Amino acid sequence: MIEEKIDFLININDEEWGQYAFSRDPLKGKVSEELRREIIKKANECGKIEAIKLKEKYKDSPIKKIIKKMNLEFIEEDSNGTESYIMFACYNSPNKITIFKRNKMLVEEFIKENKLNNKLEYIDVESMLLAHELFHHIEENNKDIYTKNEKVVLWKIGKYKYKSGLVCIGEIAAMAFAKELLSINYNPYVFDVLMLYPHDENKANELYKEIEGFKGGH
Ligand SMILES: [Zn+2]
Repeated sequence: MIEEKIDFLININDEEWGQYAFSRDPLKGKVSEELRREIIKKANECGKIEAIKLKEKYKDSPIKKIIKKMNLEFIEEDSNGTESYIMFACYNSPNKITIFKRNKMLVEEFIKENKLNNKLEYIDVESMLLAHELFHHIEENNKDIYTKNEKVVLWKIGKYKYKSGLVCIGEIAAMAFAKELLSINYNPYVFDVLMLYPHDENKANELYKEIEGFKGGH
């Protein structure tokens, strides 16, 4: 049943979701277990700290107001333009956040139909999506932020090292940021599965099974 699955997902902690996020990063093989744990911890802290700073600055204003005050443009589009990849929101530098309305509405309906609102602490899906993308804007404009500075060595020749950032670091932090900003008790990574359900139940169940493997430290 879907309720049980949501119960399970909301009880996965930030560290475990971090392991899940890492597992999907193309560069995961370049990071030792130990460094991976450290990165997950720091990325979660980074997102949380940025959210606390913002809350202090804007005194608990609704996210839409914060976005306006930060001169971010917020637009809604009906479709995501591609059939192979389901998108819910995206950030484009320097200051645009796009929400794909149809996908957002489908997940809202799914939550309503399955009476998941209470379990999900009456989250506003749009605010959650906006918060996540807002973090990408913040990290884009802060050269010193942790998520943009953690690099892994891909290869080296002599003294020369080629380094790269990891996509998952910013994603982990963006989720921690949204969690703190919206004051919810579960990690919004839950929506990775939840948002798939209205589109493809089989795929959602497959992803759920994959995520089960991260509970309890793997
Ligand atoms: Zn993101």
